[in-house]
Amino acid sequence: MSGARVLLVDDDAALLQALPEALHLRLPELVVDTCDEALEALRRIAEVDYDAIISDIKMPGMDGLALLERVHAIRPSTPTLLITGHGEHELAIQALRGGAYDFVKKPIDRDYFMASLARAVQMRQLSRQVEQQRLDLERHAASLEQKVAERTLELVAANRAKDKLLRQRDQALDEARVAAERLQVLQHVTDTALTHLDLHNLLSELLARVQGALRADVVAILLLNGAGTALRVRASIGLEQAVGEEIALGTDVIGQIAERRQPFIVDDLTEVPELIPGLRAQARSLVAAPLLVESRVIGVICCGARATGAYTHDDAQLLRLAADRIALALDHARLYQEVQEAMREQRVATQLGHQAAELGAIIEAMADGVFVCDPSAHITRLNKAASTLLGLPVGAAAGLTVADIGEMVQLRAGDGEPLAQADIPLLCALRGETRTDLLTVITQVRTGTEVRLRISSAPIRDQRGNIVGAVAVSRDVTELDRLERQKDEFLSVASHELKTPLTSLKGLAQITRRRLERGGHTEAAHLAGMERAIVRMELLVNDLLDISRIESGKLALRTEREDLTALCRQVVEEQTAATNRSVHIDLPAEAILVDLDADRISQVLTNVLSNAFKYSPTDQSVTLRLQQTADEVRVAITDRGPGIPKAEMPYLFERFYRVPGIDVQAGSGVGLGLGLYISHEIMERHGGRIWVENNLDGGATFTIALPMTARLRSVSIPLKVINSTQG
Ligand code: ADP
Repeated sequence: MSGARVLLVDDDAALLQALPEALHLRLPELVVDTCDEALEALRRIAEVDYDAIISDIKMPGMDGLALLERVHAIRPSTPTLLITGHGEHELAIQALRGGAYDFVKKPIDRDYFMASLARAVQMRQLSRQVEQQRLDLERHAASLEQKVAERTLELVAANRAKDKLLRQRDQALDEARVAAERLQVLQHVTDTALTHLDLHNLLSELLARVQGALRADVVAILLLNGAGTALRVRASIGLEQAVGEEIALGTDVIGQIAERRQPFIVDDLTEVPELIPGLRAQARSLVAAPLLVESRVIGVICCGARATGAYTHDDAQLLRLAADRIALALDHARLYQEVQEAMREQRVATQLGHQAAELGAIIEAMADGVFVCDPSAHITRLNKAASTLLGLPVGAAAGLTVADIGEMVQLRAGDGEPLAQADIPLLCALRGETRTDLLTVITQVRTGTEVRLRISSAPIRDQRGNIVGAVAVSRDVTELDRLERQKDEFLSVASHELKTPLTSLKGLAQITRRRLERGGHTEAAHLAGMERAIVRMELLVNDLLDISRIESGKLALRTEREDLTALCRQVVEEQTAATNRSVHIDLPAEAILVDLDADRISQVLTNVLSNAFKYSPTDQSVTLRLQQTADEVRVAITDRGPGIPKAEMPYLFERFYRVPGIDVQAGSGVGLGLGLYISHEIMERHGGRIWVENNLDGGATFTIALPMTARLRSVSIPLKVINSTQG
C-alpha cells in the first residue's frame, strides 16, 4: 500500500472531509486527494495515475457514471469505486456494467468500503506491478531478441568464416597432397637418376619416369653437341626413329628453350614448325624444359601429348624441377663415363705398351732381318738381324731412306743385274704391292761380302685402309742357295751321267731279250721284267733331268699347232694299253687346235692320268673330259681315289712333295713327288694352268687349261669307253 494514491470525488463537503480522515486512520500510508466535481477530477486523473478513484454517482454536472466512462477511456486499468445512495440498486448495477470496480452504498459501511478500496488499490498496484513486469519482460524480451539477432548475425558471420576456413583448409590440403605427389615424383626421378650411372640405361629409365609423371605420349631427351651448335636427340619414347637426329639451334621453340633457360608450353603443335622430325604425327601439345647444370644448358627435355592444350603451368614447373635433377644425373653419368673411358684408354694404352714391347722384343730376337719404313720411305725400324745382314752398326740406318740403304748395299736382282728403284720391295709395298720371297743380292757395307737375300714385303695400312708405312722381312739364303745349286748341279750331272748308261742298258736288254725269245729261252721273261724296271728308272731320271732344266731355265718348248683332242685320245690309249684300267673319255666331235709342245703336254696328261690310276682303287674307272670355254680349253681328269686334303693343296705342286697318308693303290710305288711340279712348270710355260679340286662324291679332279688358239670342225667321235688289257 506504500505510496498508494487515491482520488475521492464527491460534491458532499462533509464526506469529502470525513472519509479521508477515516481512511487515514485505517490506511495511514494511503494518500487521498479530494475533488468535488467530475471535470476537475478528470483533469487530475489526466495528470496523476491514481491507484483508485472513488466517486459519488449523483453529482451536479457530470455524474459518477459519466465520469466512470471517461476514466475508462483515459485510465482503463484504474479501478473506480462508485458510491450510491440507499436503494439505488439500479444505478449500482449500471455502475458495475459500466466497468466500476465496486460500489458502496450510503450510509457507507466503513469496513466494507476500506476492504474494497484496499483490494482495489492492491489490485491496481498488482496490476501496476504486473504491467511493470510485463514491460520489464517486454524490454527484456526485446533486449534478448536484440541479443539473439546480434548473436545470429555473429553466428552467420562465424559460419561464413568457418566455411571459408574449411574451404581454405581443403584447398591447402589439396595443395599439400599435390605438392607431396610431385615431391614423390621428383624423388622418384632423382632416386633413379642417382642409382644408375650408365648413361644409356639412365636415359631410358628417366624417359619412362617422366612419361609416367606427366602422362606423356612422347618423351625425348636432346643433348647439346660438342660444338654447342645443335641439339641431338639422344633418347626417346614414341619418337625412336628421331634418335640420332640433330636439330640446329635456331629461333624456334626448342632453340628458345635453350636460349631462355625457361620451361615452355605449346598448346597446339600444328601452329608452329616441326620441332623434332615426326613429333607432329605423335603429339598435339608439348611441354619442354631446359636441362641446366650450374646455369649451363646441356640439353632439353620434351613431353608431348596427343590432346591439344594438355599441359598446365604446374606441369611446366614440375618438368622444370625434374629437368634440374635429370640434368645433374646426366652430368654425373657423363662424368662417370668420361672417367671410365679415361680408365679404359689408360688400360688400352698400357696393353698397347705391353704389346709394343712384346712385338719389339720378338722383332729384335728374330733371325730374319726386319725393315720398317714410313710413308715417306724413311727407315723407322731395323732389327739387329737386319743391321747384321746389311753389315751396318745397330742404329746406323736411323733417318736414312730406303733408296739410300739400297745404294749403300748395292741392292741387285737375284741374277746380279741392278734392281730398278721402283722394284725395291719396300717401295713396292708403299705403292700397295705385296712381294713374296724376291731373290736379291747385296754387298755388305763393312765386309764387302756378297749376300743373297729372299725378301718379302707388304704395306702397313691403318683402319681405313690407308697406307701408313711398309714392312720387309729378309732372310739370308746365301748358304741355302749354294747348297741348292750344288744339289741341282749334282742332280744334273747325276741324271745326265745315268741317262747314257741307262739308254745303253735298255738297248742291250732289248737285244738280249729278242735273242732269247728267238732261241725259245724262258729267261726272256726275266729280261722283259728288267726292261720295265729300266723304263721306270728312265722315267725317274727324266724327271730329275727336267728339274735341272727347269731350275737352270733350260726347259725349252717346241710349240706347234696341234689337235688336243687327238693328243688326249693318244695318251689315254697309251696309258690304258700299259695298265689294266678303263677310262671314260668325253671328247668333242671336233679337232681343237692349240699351240703347244705335244711331248710336254703329253707328259703332263700322262702324269695326271697315271696318278689317277696310281692313287684310286683298281676297280674304279677314271674319266677324261675335254671342254672349251670362251678363251680356254680344259682337260679334266677325275678319279674315285681319296681326294686331296684341303690343307695339302697349296703344297701339291711343289718339288718333292708327296701328300702324307696317301697310298699307292695300283702300279709302281716309285715316285719322287716331282711329276706335278714339272707339270705345273710345263703348263706355266704354255701360258696355261693346272689345278686340283675334290669331287663332291669323292675323289679328285685335276684340270689343265691352255689358252685357246683356234678350233676346227672334225668328224664326230661319240663318247666311248676304252677298255684295254696290258699288251
Ligand atoms: P708322285 O711321283 O709322288 O706321284 P706327283 O708330283 O705326281 O708325285 O704327286 C705328288 C703327290 O700328290 C703324290 O705323292 C700323291 O700323294 C698326291 N697325288 C697326286 N695325284 C693324286 C690323286 N689323283 N689322288 C690322290 N693323291 C694324289
